Amino acid sequence: MNEQIAQARFDFPVLAQRVNDKPLVYLDSAASAQKPQFVIEAQADFERHHYAAVHRGIHTLSAEATSRVEAVRQQVVDFIHAQTPSEIVFTSGTTEGINLVANSWGNQHVRAGDNIIISEMEHHANIVPWQMLCERTGASVRVIPLNSDGTLQIDALDTLIDSRTRLLAVAQVSNVLGTIAPLEALIAKAKQAGVVVLVDGAQGAVHGPVDVQSMGCDFYVFSGHKLYGPSGTGVLYGRADILESMPPWSGGGAMIESVSLTEGTQYACPPWRFEAGTPNITGIIGLGAAIEYVTRLGMGVIHDWEAELIRYAMEMLQTVPGLHIYGPADREGVIAFNLGAHHAYDVGSFLDSYGIAVRTGHHCAMPLMSHYQVPAMCRASFALYNTREEVDTLVTSLHRIQQLLG
Ligand code: PMP
Repeated sequence: MNEQIAQARFDFPVLAQRVNDKPLVYLDSAASAQKPQFVIEAQADFERHHYAAVHRGIHTLSAEATSRVEAVRQQVVDFIHAQTPSEIVFTSGTTEGINLVANSWGNQHVRAGDNIIISEMEHHANIVPWQMLCERTGASVRVIPLNSDGTLQIDALDTLIDSRTRLLAVAQVSNVLGTIAPLEALIAKAKQAGVVVLVDGAQGAVHGPVDVQSMGCDFYVFSGHKLYGPSGTGVLYGRADILESMPPWSGGGAMIESVSLTEGTQYACPPWRFEAGTPNITGIIGLGAAIEYVTRLGMGVIHDWEAELIRYAMEMLQTVPGLHIYGPADREGVIAFNLGAHHAYDVGSFLDSYGIAVRTGHHCAMPLMSHYQVPAMCRASFALYNTREEVDTLVTSLHRIQQLLG
């Protein structure tokens, strides 16, 4: 284990506690990751000494808060290798980023008879906004199906794409199966057909380095709270020329150049055109701290450690009789499973009694539950602070539950 990573665990105060009289084993970071002291402190310090509204005041505190928020925008540029800060829109999370694109770009470009392609492994956040857009416009959603091993049927895209395809919206990594989307092949096919691409990076940006320019996507979205930052923060990256051509989605303060009751409103340029109202100022500061924290550790180092953990967990979980794991061997971040015919809630409740936090339910991916014909799954998800010993605790506990439940 990388020494830096081994030490990093102690940066997360939440992890030191006991739950149900057992040491907490937090395996729910795909839902929301814990925050290091560095992020907690950065937010507290900002609130204590530096807080003010941004983009408004001439006074010193406001000017400082504004430049700190704008510095985070530059941090995001570097983090995902965008070209300019004008490509980075602060949002409340992945969900808002996708809704922004569906409402602004979608309303502008999608007409009756058009289609939008998603995949069968999408989170509801990357399904419902497109369905709503289709309801508004008379377009339709097409779906890239899964192979039996939980990988995407890439070749299906050739038959799904036609001259009326406007957008391909796909998750970089499935939040249930851990499937890594073959983005290079998918984006190449989309680009060849002139189709705009949105990548849902909610589970991708957290597990390894991201380069939106080499990826070749037009939009990329992720959430701060899965990246060891605060909830209520997120990022929409949009290529500069596309964002420039998009109308605002939400109107209000901060997104305007001028407002007249007789001559209408001139909108600000991106990214501010898409940031109506007072943003989550402290949250953005926390997001900046989170990016600084993971960047200092190194996204490559985080990736390698998590890959090792996942490999170990996949191997050890095979020893549990009756345990069924969903998704491919080659995966990132998450392992969803069921134990025999036992309901995921029962298994999850037993795990909780052993101090182990896993997610149970449909994971906001009901179409995937239908695909596998189960109402729910348990999901263990891994982050930089998890250890091999925690995997052992999970596996031992599942053995015990298997014996108890039969
Ligand atoms: N997409 C994926 C793949 C996710 O895992 C999630 C969060 N579970 C979302 C979108 C939505 O993210 P948020 O709730 O932070 O907006």
